[in-house]
Amino acid sequence: MKNGVDSIDINRKKSLIRSKELDNIAIDDMEHKSKVRIGFSEFSNKLYTNTKNKILKELNASEEDWNYPKWQLKNRINDVDEILKYSNLTKEEYEDIKNVSEKYRFAITPYYFSLIDFDNPHCPIKLQSIPNIEEFKEFGQLDPMNEEQSNPSGKITRRYPNKLIINVTNACPMYCRHCQRRRLIGNVDKNTSKKDIDESIDFIKNNPTIREVLITGGDALLLSNNKLENIFNKLSQINHVEIIRIGTRTLATLPFRIDDELAVLLRKYKVQVSTQFNHACEITPEAVKAIDILVDHGILVRNQMVLLHNVNDNKYCIQKTNEELQKYRVIPYYLFHPKDIKSTKHFQVDISKGLEIMKHLEGRTSGMCKPTYVYNTPLGLGKVPLVPIENIEYDEDGYKFTTWENKTIKKH
Ligand SMILES: *Cc1c(COP(=O)(O)O)cnc(C)c1O
Ligand code: SF4
Repeated sequence: MKNGVDSIDINRKKSLIRSKELDNIAIDDMEHKSKVRIGFSEFSNKLYTNTKNKILKELNASEEDWNYPKWQLKNRINDVDEILKYSNLTKEEYEDIKNVSEKYRFAITPYYFSLIDFDNPHCPIKLQSIPNIEEFKEFGQLDPMNEEQSNPSGKITRRYPNKLIINVTNACPMYCRHCQRRRLIGNVDKNTSKKDIDESIDFIKNNPTIREVLITGGDALLLSNNKLENIFNKLSQINHVEIIRIGTRTLATLPFRIDDELAVLLRKYKVQVSTQFNHACEITPEAVKAIDILVDHGILVRNQMVLLHNVNDNKYCIQKTNEELQKYRVIPYYLFHPKDIKSTKHFQVDISKGLEIMKHLEGRTSGMCKPTYVYNTPLGLGKVPLVPIENIEYDEDGYKFTTWENKTIKKH
């Protein structure tokens, strides 16, 4: 009896010591995470309202205009002289943006532009949207994924047995400087022709192996609801198509595009949504309003983040961003290793860095907010999940694991 009580005491004592140890790890993480800029903060709100008010005044527009997606698109900032109206640029910065944009155009919704912190040279919003002189650096390829040779019909990209992509437009509300499809952005925004869409749908109709269709672009939500419904309707009549998914970044770049009417349409065809938030500061009150509309209508929303140097290649930033996503009911899905796309040298990260970030996430945060880190292999051979190599090893003694704290232990 006495022994039993003693061992309970010992267990409790050991548990308390371990609990304290875990507290110390968490406290350290919390301190680092508190330095990551988030969308819900006084700082972000101040930046946003300041620039927003300047733009509204300059364009003689109202709050109502601002919240109207067509107004946002019509008034995209796409000229260096416009940037100059709302921020101070050095002569050199001005010249650089001007020179780069002559070769690689830019366009930023007033909404996204208003989130830029011009005082921070590494502002994640700025790095993702404003042309950078580094884009001229010799590097990479236009089409490393060989998309041009995975196109069996219309505007389809097919690399997998039972799923494929239809590209329905080359347009996006904001052109990400790191975009893997930069070569398709061109100089004009163009929706895919009716002929190409019909051809793509016919291909799917004639291929009973295809159970999932991804509608993407560009940004699929730049199509009108009517055009979207037309596509959803045709696909839903094909018996073997079980899932329709759309790819859109409007939640981050043009959240006003998401309204009840759209959500009802997506719900009708049980469309699932993939989006792209790359940094916690993109998860603003406006973005969360858009997320809420979708999720409250029962739409599944998953996030595909891209690992980008100086934007988010920091373990606490990735942790915080995924925790914010989980908090607002977006499922972290992928963390993409950046591809070697021409003119994106300054965004490149070594795979070892990505693995270090994944190792950090392992035990330190909820399993519900951990994406799968993937590398999209060259030649369009598909995505490969990347996990720290030491996590599981095998030799004559059997399997050996390395835990989140780097403790090694053999399988029973
Ligand atoms: C990534 C990708 C898909 C979708 O893959 P998931 O892993 O299901 O998200 C489909 N087709 C192509 C060509 C892709 O590159
Ligand atoms: S939203 Fe997607 S397709 Fe459009 S520019 Fe950004 S990364 Fe490219």
